[in-house]
Amino acid sequence: MVNASSQVVSFQEVGVVGLIQVDNPPVNALSREVRAGIIDAIAVVAGRQQIRALLIISAGNLFSAGADLKEFDTGFLEPSLQELQAAIELAQIPVVAAIHGLALGGGLEVAMACHYRVAQKNAKLGLPEINLGIVPGAGGTQRLPRLIGPRAALEMILSGAPISATEAKAKGLVDEIAENDLRQAAMAFCERLVRDGAGPRPTRELLAAGGLGESEVGAALRANAKSLRGRSTQTLVIEAIQASRLPFAEGVAVEARVSQASLASRESHALRHVFFAERESGKVTGMPARLEPPEIRQVAIIGAGTMGSAIAIAFADADRRVILIDNTEAALTRGRENIRSTYASSVKRGRITQQIAEERVARITTGLEVGTTTDADMVIEAVFEDMSLKKRVLSDLDSVIPRERLIATNTSTLSITELARATKHPDRVLGLHFFAPANVTKLLEIARGSDTTSETLAIALQVAKLLKKVPVVAGDAFGFIGNRMMLDGYFREAEQLLLEGASPTQVDAALEQFGFAMGPQRVSDLGGNDVGTKARLQLYERESRPDPYFVIADRLTEMGRLGQKTGRGFYRYESGSRDALPDLEVTALIEALASQRGIVRREIGDDEIVERCLLALINVGAMVLDEGVAARASDIDVVWTSGYGFPRHLGGPMFYADTLGLRHVAERIRYYHGKLGHYWRPARLLERLAVENSSFEQRDGASRTP
Ligand code: NAD
Repeated sequence: MVNASSQVVSFQEVGVVGLIQVDNPPVNALSREVRAGIIDAIAVVAGRQQIRALLIISAGNLFSAGADLKEFDTGFLEPSLQELQAAIELAQIPVVAAIHGLALGGGLEVAMACHYRVAQKNAKLGLPEINLGIVPGAGGTQRLPRLIGPRAALEMILSGAPISATEAKAKGLVDEIAENDLRQAAMAFCERLVRDGAGPRPTRELLAAGGLGESEVGAALRANAKSLRGRSTQTLVIEAIQASRLPFAEGVAVEARVSQASLASRESHALRHVFFAERESGKVTGMPARLEPPEIRQVAIIGAGTMGSAIAIAFADADRRVILIDNTEAALTRGRENIRSTYASSVKRGRITQQIAEERVARITTGLEVGTTTDADMVIEAVFEDMSLKKRVLSDLDSVIPRERLIATNTSTLSITELARATKHPDRVLGLHFFAPANVTKLLEIARGSDTTSETLAIALQVAKLLKKVPVVAGDAFGFIGNRMMLDGYFREAEQLLLEGASPTQVDAALEQFGFAMGPQRVSDLGGNDVGTKARLQLYERESRPDPYFVIADRLTEMGRLGQKTGRGFYRYESGSRDALPDLEVTALIEALASQRGIVRREIGDDEIVERCLLALINVGAMVLDEGVAARASDIDVVWTSGYGFPRHLGGPMFYADTLGLRHVAERIRYYHGKLGHYWRPARLLERLAVENSSFEQRDGASRTP
């Protein structure tokens, strides 16, 4: 037995095998210490004749999730991953990687530098770097094609999705699958290599089978078209993989160049920004350190409409029981049908089996009486967006649900504080703002009322974790973070542009071209124009908005043009189709509304549409930040990228503003203020940051607690 060479890497002789174990919780990141530790262990072995093979294995739940992302920004300290790989690959005796759980990114790149790989049957292997706009830079683009061929390598790197051990074995990435105990199987594999006299098999010495043809590249790009829309990393990936035909040293030189270029790209900065922002958004300053929220086993949901039934699915998917309540049998029947058809479509798409679908459906029971929810560990109200109705429902719930349990409202715009005060225990009330479709959309906006306690907030954060959603905590103001920016900024400007002369098709196409998943008018038609109208009617009871403010959408609601559900909205839809077709009736309506306001319609360019909608969004975002409704600019970016279809590779509206430069942003907003008046008033915070030549990112950094 040789002494452990470091805290995170230990070395042990087991017969003819030298066992190197990495133990760097939580994810066995390949930190400098790990890299140095493995290199030291290999050096120790070099002088020992009796050791004839090396096995690299990890403790914990996974082989390795890869490099520490922070090192991408700070630069890699010595020894580098490449030095580690050279030490492994050039070793005089065979080196075997034993993979369990996950081998991702740098983790897989190190495993590929080993001479052989044994994987536990449930393990997954992947190079997810593209999700962060990065080209794998530790030989991944050179070794993977040598092991599985350039086409399969391209598919794997472009999709970023890990493959199963079985698939990896079939492709040639893994030599053997361990059905049961990995360590045992891998030890036996090593002993067999020694017995058979099999020597090292450096991956770099293998030949990559040919290059990539145009049709192969085309097919791989098409297969990932959705996730790569508007992106550029894929071009660099292709260049690197093409270089795998060259001798290894030349290939890695190409890889190093394109990988560096990817790291320096705006796209990668933006994607990494969102990645870190999502990890930050669940952290709330001022929360007591040790709060242990009670376990949630059963949830009650009031209102079996669009949102209520989808929220029920989200909890059933998380293995929780749900009681879904509505006040009419007809609504319950609709809710149940909704749930069934959602699961049927998941089965049809091969996402889950029929049996799993049935189990999940069975977890949801329905009823008419709020009184039957007493046993629920928490309750979510999702009835119509109506203050007095919601107050009544919350007060009823307060009298039946034991005092310490969470009562949440799914309101999109109403005051949480006012709603909470309709109960005797406003401290346990908050907003859990889900986004349609609630079982799919990643975002969960958590809105805190004036009386909401940290204990209550802790339960909400726990719910987000349970449902695998990204939480963002918002203050209690009209529309919280997302809907406020959407209504007072983005969508309002889109309507203004319609009045000034753009068509719904043109506005939507311009913003989709910018990168939004769907343009504003198509979003309105999908969600229902009446939803917005109802929210605005509630708003007008508390606050006013000068004309024009959604005059088109509200008129469409009056006309019964509610959107896809009625076959007519901003567009018309033919029966059974979701294709948005232009409608002359809407054009006439818009022209009439514009002329009533003395607006002279004109040709509007796509650039103006995009600029105005984004600047309006950013400006209101700055107000939301200044008012403390959002704690960080990065929280706003999370809201918009995970809930409103803002392109992730542009980092979210506030990051995007930083990339435009706040001086420029402020100047353009002042310009439109001069042209269009009051509602373009520049946000104070934006003006200040622009004068200071600062950015939203710097403001976040300054306010971050260590
Ligand atoms: P919906 O009209 O589809 O469903 C509301 C349901 O509440 C109906 O089934 C109705 O029968 C039921 N209901 C009404 N009064 C009730 C009562 N007293 N007791 C029990 N059930 C009652 O509405 P929705 O779109 O699901 O919206 C529900 C809430 O979610 C609203 O507050 C809305 O603002 C919010 N929200 C909606 C969306 C969206 O995109 N639709 C997104 C986020 C939040």
